[in-house]
Amino acid sequence: MLINFDRAASRQQKAALKKRLAAMFPGARAGTAGGGLTLSGFSPGGAADAVPLLENMPGVLGVELAAAELCPLACASGGRKIFPRPLNFRGGFVFIAGPCAVEDEASYLASALALKAAGAHALRAPLFKPRSSPYAFPGIGFAGLKIIARAKKTTGLPLVTEATDPRQLEKLAAACDVLQIGARNMRNYELLKEAGRSGLPVLLKRAMRATLKEWLLSAEYLLKYGTRNLVLCERGDSVFSAYNPGLDFALMRAAQKLTGLPVLADPSHAARERSLAAALALKAARAGADGLLIEVSINPGQALVDGKQTLTVETFTKLAGAILCKRK
Ligand code: PEP
Ligand code: MN
Repeated sequence: MLINFDRAASRQQKAALKKRLAAMFPGARAGTAGGGLTLSGFSPGGAADAVPLLENMPGVLGVELAAAELCPLACASGGRKIFPRPLNFRGGFVFIAGPCAVEDEASYLASALALKAAGAHALRAPLFKPRSSPYAFPGIGFAGLKIIARAKKTTGLPLVTEATDPRQLEKLAAACDVLQIGARNMRNYELLKEAGRSGLPVLLKRAMRATLKEWLLSAEYLLKYGTRNLVLCERGDSVFSAYNPGLDFALMRAAQKLTGLPVLADPSHAARERSLAAALALKAARAGADGLLIEVSINPGQALVDGKQTLTVETFTKLAGAILCKRK
């Protein structure tokens, strides 16, 4: 913990703060750094209630917690890898591929089979789509449960599906292997709590423009409420340009280093255009992503959602070959 003093803080105010710290954290070690005080050796997570009280003290400019103090569960492995079983993460690069949304049985099953043949490890199986427009296709909902069950049976591949509302969880948990919490819902704390309680593995995307701290705190919610298998996914800020690669690789690597969790990259929603998505996927693999969550289907031209950024199976096959070849 780092407590920064106001430049105008008086000696009495500093002494009062030290006294308060000693009372709040008996046994913790206090030190000085720059214009403030440091505190270490207190139980992780034990500082949350103390921070607002300390920040309110006269002479205090602000209080900062290190990642492990703020998110003790997310950072508990100290950067060691924890592999969630259903996605077969065994140190290899993982491909979760499929259309943006499940739209109809014939095309979904055909895509699923083609993706299995192309080497995908898991299928995107989204039934509920969070859309910016209330008039846009919202996904087929529970009507798609039968379709994805058939795809799972036919391909033997695990399914990843997005939950947008805690009321969907029971049915989705029965049908799918991994719950996806999308960018728009990274800050939906009631959904995070319920997803945690479901006990299902979770793939947590970073919200657009969310900081590393916000992302890890959302991971902390899931872990605190019961998630044991967790995967993170960097999906960018939706501001692709020649000067902005669309995905924040520094942030992706920081999340890997702090948590030890697998961190995937989603080049599709970051690039928003097919050819850019393929190039970005290669960059993500080179930058150290643990795998990809990527939109691929047999007929992107017919898709009701995100067809423009969806790869054909042929392009995906080449991409997967190029990524795996580079890793050998
Ligand atoms: C998705 O992966 O289907 C999706 C909606 O992405 P995001 O939440 O990153 O926008
Ligand atoms: Mn999409």
